[in-house]
Amino acid sequence: MTAVASHQGILYVVATPIGNLGDMVPRAVETLQTVAVIAAEDTRHSSRLLSHFGIKTPCIAYHDHSDELRVEQLVGRMQAGDSIALISDAGTPLVSDPGYRLVRSARQAGIQVVPVPGACAMIAALSAAGLPSDRFAFEGFLPAKQVARCVHLQALATDPRTLIFYEAPHRILETLQDMTQIFGAEREVVIARELTKTFETIKNDKVGDLVNWVAGDSNQQRGEIVLLVHGASKQENGMMTPEQAHIMKVLLEELPVKQAASIGSRLTGLKKNFLYDWALQQSE
Ligand code: SAM
Repeated sequence: MTAVASHQGILYVVATPIGNLGDMVPRAVETLQTVAVIAAEDTRHSSRLLSHFGIKTPCIAYHDHSDELRVEQLVGRMQAGDSIALISDAGTPLVSDPGYRLVRSARQAGIQVVPVPGACAMIAALSAAGLPSDRFAFEGFLPAKQVARCVHLQALATDPRTLIFYEAPHRILETLQDMTQIFGAEREVVIARELTKTFETIKNDKVGDLVNWVAGDSNQQRGEIVLLVHGASKQENGMMTPEQAHIMKVLLEELPVKQAASIGSRLTGLKKNFLYDWALQQSE
């Protein structure tokens, strides 16, 4: 990394509210007022937020598929001394939102990157869900197609960490049904919907029961949603780590159970008999 030259501008990564404008932090307003330009995911969308706070700084569009030239232009401006604030439509940039390419390029060019933290839907959901929060995995959006979604969920089935997903309202029911199939109907899931807004709803239940609740109330299939899943219990993952379970799943795709257990035992250090029983349980 190049050393930061003092005449260079700064890239501020600024979080904005996820619904409730009262969550805009004063430092975010001050930063957006004082930078030379705001790089926004959608300038029209952000104009409402900016005018609410009386921010008149010029805005330009930035998303991760902006061409290379746009990234170079922004980095060039910062090298020439202008500071830039990056915002997305809502919440924290780069969290299932644009910004990665710009932040990466700025840091590679030796430009100082400063976070201005604030709202983030997955952290807000985790803070109120009542699920273990000592270890968690943010998975972003699941694939839209069912087969790909199930493959993805299957790979997470024995993960002991709390799993966090963003989900579109029109897919919530299908995703809960797939989770019931793959994680089992008893697994605890939390739906955190419309956080910080008028119809904020946080509901936890067994995923099998949540399917019925969501199917029976179309309001639960509206708005913005975070899904949180309790991690697999030791019983569910048979004391195996996700990596060990993954190795066994790959072996079982190619080999008979006995041979998979034997090779799996050499690769994981777990007992052959244990892996044999585990493999039989998976196919039940
Ligand atoms: N960068 C944002 C953040 O920090 O949370 C996330 C952007 S992502 C494109 C949008 C998704 O975040 C929504 O589809 C929904 O899953 C989740 N989300 C955003 N706002 C939310 C809210 N108020 N309540 C629940 N989920 C929300």
